Amino acid sequence: MLRKPNRPSLTLDCRGISELPDLSIFNQLRLISARGNQISFLPDHIDLLTHLEHINLGSNSFSTFPYVLTTLSQLKTLHLFNNNITILPVSIHTLTSLTLLNLNDNKIEYLPDSIGELHSITHLSLHRNRLQALPRTIGKLRNLKELNLADNYLRSLPYELGELKSLQKLIMYRNKLVNLPYTIGFCTSLTVLDLSINNMMLLPSQLSKCKRLRELYIEQNSLLQERPVDGIPVKEVLLLKELSLRAILNHNDSKHLLTPDIHSTLDKSITDALLYAEMCSICNKHFYFTFIECVRFVKSKKISPTSSISNLPLSTAVCSVDCFVKTDRNILGIIHKT
Ligand SMILES: [Zn+2]
Repeated sequence: MLRKPNRPSLTLDCRGISELPDLSIFNQLRLISARGNQISFLPDHIDLLTHLEHINLGSNSFSTFPYVLTTLSQLKTLHLFNNNITILPVSIHTLTSLTLLNLNDNKIEYLPDSIGELHSITHLSLHRNRLQALPRTIGKLRNLKELNLADNYLRSLPYELGELKSLQKLIMYRNKLVNLPYTIGFCTSLTVLDLSINNMMLLPSQLSKCKRLRELYIEQNSLLQERPVDGIPVKEVLLLKELSLRAILNHNDSKHLLTPDIHSTLDKSITDALLYAEMCSICNKHFYFTFIECVRFVKSKKISPTSSISNLPLSTAVCSVDCFVKTDRNILGIIHKT
């Protein structure tokens, strides 16, 4: 039925229909809601609805993403929750006006790199899917405020997470996370972080840089308890690559040295290493990789006002055995990276 003249909408929720009627004459439609039906495909004439901004096709029978939707570049909100979708099309990048994408309760195993082209998106929800990894392009979603990836199979998150400067809510409960990238410290808008029911032993110390964090949920993980951790500091032999990277990273003129011209000539593994280098908490020099990792426990109230766990184990980077022997009593032990 057509309702408001200046925002024509069509509501066909829970009607038991398996296909949409011919809508080609309603080309002024702004909103279609047809959730709770048995629709499994969309007719091609949907591409004539060039004013359509909102579509809700949740709780239907789609086993593939309805490709015709990718022709609707003006679409702002798209609900496809509770279907059987396994794959998103590469062409999803055409939905450049999209601000909300709800794909909860599907069977999606991976996201295409082109997801990073959804520059307008503020809310992305993939609760209860089968994701095992995220593409690095996720960091290009600079307007993203809420990312819900709860109930998936994610073991880690890409370093590019730190590029999500607008991110306020990150919901990751019930995954298989063993760590968080230290770049989480660059997500300075973060207010809610739910990491409960994962496999994390440590949190990155950079989490303390998320000054707006108000809610941190970390229950049901394998967090280290506050007691010394087994480990023997063995004098390390650094590989040539590590020595070279440290020399570049700690060069007085490293910023000058790494001009875009030089950067573009370097191998990608080198530029990544430069981008994701860590800083030693003892000598404040940069390094890329070391097998030494220390643990520091802090009162959780210092990280977030609300947390049911009193002390949080933060990973504390130390660049060498020489620095390790200078550590203070707050750093209880070391563990070896596997
Ligand atoms: Zn050091």
